[in-house]
Amino acid sequence: MAKFRFEFGITLVYLLVGSGWILFSDELTDLLAPNPEIVSHLQTYKGLFYVIITALLFYFFIRKHLQKLRKAEERALESDKLKSGFLANVSHEIRTPMNGVMGFAELLKDESLSHQERLQFISIIEKSGERMLELINDILNISMADSGQVRLKYTSVNIFELMNSIAQLFLPSATDKGINLIVEACRESERVESLMMDRDKIVCVLSNLIKNALKYTNTGYVKISCARDGDFVRFMVADSGVGIPEGQLERIFNRFVQVNMSYTKTYDGAGLGLAIAKSYVEMMGGKIWAQPNENGGSIFNFTIPFKPVNRPKKNDSKS
Ligand code: ADP
Repeated sequence: MAKFRFEFGITLVYLLVGSGWILFSDELTDLLAPNPEIVSHLQTYKGLFYVIITALLFYFFIRKHLQKLRKAEERALESDKLKSGFLANVSHEIRTPMNGVMGFAELLKDESLSHQERLQFISIIEKSGERMLELINDILNISMADSGQVRLKYTSVNIFELMNSIAQLFLPSATDKGINLIVEACRESERVESLMMDRDKIVCVLSNLIKNALKYTNTGYVKISCARDGDFVRFMVADSGVGIPEGQLERIFNRFVQVNMSYTKTYDGAGLGLAIAKSYVEMMGGKIWAQPNENGGSIFNFTIPFKPVNRPKKNDSKS
């Protein structure tokens, strides 16, 4: 059914209340006061009563409508601000590695460079290229999720193998920074092994969280763990890093949002990683949230539905 527009709704209410009041109030007045003098007094109060009731109705209707409009306006302004912020971030994010590529490619032309210097410059060009590719991938992923083009592909995945293989990828950067990268398996009693899940999406979410944890931690540890949580499996990435202010714990999952503090501003990033993670987790039917870590740092949690792999029954194998 088509939604009633506000102006039709309010006019209809006005017409119904007004007509009802005109039709029934005279009869009510006659019934209550047979004396014409009293009837004339009552007519005045009747009019007043009608004005007060309709004024109250208008007030509540219009207030509700305006509240909705104000919220929509706030959202539009926020989205506008985020888009401008995004453009500024993206231009900065593209310009910095682009300058790296152009500058060091220029330097490579110098024939007097030693072999060592040449390798060093090439490595800078490669890193700059990787950074640009990462940004382009993030933008592509988020726009594909927005346009509903992302499909989930469920396969049987061994969680411990998955967590260990992701940790292996990040081990070199953790070692470089002197950070202890820990993978903690679920307790024996709640052990979850092979489950049906979309491996690529889980890898993407976990990688984003671990990458951030390593980026925003200077000393201490980053710990990856998982646990059964009712009908869900919960993954956790805890760090002993700079932490996130209480008021920003939810906001950081909005796209292009970065905590506006000097310590995080010094790191690269366009503010898209957590938005992509949130979009994937919700697509899989789970939730993602951040909380402060007890002794400083943060803990990122996300859940996905617990879908055990259908093992063939013992009898099946006999037949
Ligand atoms: P970015 O590319 O900027 O890291 P993200 O969407 O991944 O974008 O993260 C958004 C913001 O959330 C970051 O800019 C940072 O301010 C904050 N953040 C994310 N993870 C952490 C963490 N582990 N510790 C502290 N701050 C974090």
